[in-house]
Amino acid sequence: MRNICLSLFFLLAIVGGIQAQIQWPQNKKAAIVLTYDDGLPSQIQYVIPQLDKAGFSATFYLMGKMLKDIDIPVWREVSRKGHELGNHSVYHPCWAKPESKRSEPCHALQCYSLKEMLLEVELMNAFLHAIDGKKERSYAYPCGKSVVGEEEIDYAKPMLEAGLVKSARSVYGGVVNKVEDIRMEMAPVVVVNNKMKADELIPYVKEAITKQGICVFLFHGVGDNFHYTIEAEEHQKLIDFLVENKDKLWVDTFLNVMNHVSQLKGK
Ligand SMILES: [Zn+2]
Repeated sequence: MRNICLSLFFLLAIVGGIQAQIQWPQNKKAAIVLTYDDGLPSQIQYVIPQLDKAGFSATFYLMGKMLKDIDIPVWREVSRKGHELGNHSVYHPCWAKPESKRSEPCHALQCYSLKEMLLEVELMNAFLHAIDGKKERSYAYPCGKSVVGEEEIDYAKPMLEAGLVKSARSVYGGVVNKVEDIRMEMAPVVVVNNKMKADELIPYVKEAITKQGICVFLFHGVGDNFHYTIEAEEHQKLIDFLVENKDKLWVDTFLNVMNHVSQLKGK
């Protein structure tokens, strides 16, 4: 009797485990999202051609203050190819260190009210809409911080509740495989640090495949001298690995993958 009970317990545990796994479209084993911050020229120069050749769509988080008129048609073309132009705010506000002087007008997070921050996100939405004509997009927190004012008021949930963006990306969390661990306003990521090699990134993809999870990479510079930069060749090696495993992987924009997660959550 005890053996039967134990067997039943393990069977239920296994069935429960299977049910808890995320079902990705077309029975893919994992979702891989490639995101690139700050609208850097190296992303246009190296990343877009590599992605386009591989047939992958990715998300590029642009900030208003960096965009020049000459960049507008370039990013419009990037969007036309199927990539997402994500919202990374207008002024890219960060948390000012106590010793640092705040500029006038002040664009440190401490200087913002909740209303002002949401207004800036809305403004950037309008700007991006003028470029790509899209009405839905995702958001990446500048400097990875989602609080404003000296009181550190969180603007993540209010931003989603106001309907300004569909989802938002955090700067931590790694690979996860439970729907409840993927917060729509703070989705987990793998941060690509300075000079990282493909050999250090590919294990995260393998982990996502094994766990049937999601892996969102956060890149900055590729093949340039920006901070958090990796070599263009290393980026290509990662893309090559994704191509080799195309049958197992759903590689898409942050917006598309998170919209699928949202459906799974029943929202
Ligand atoms: Zn940034």
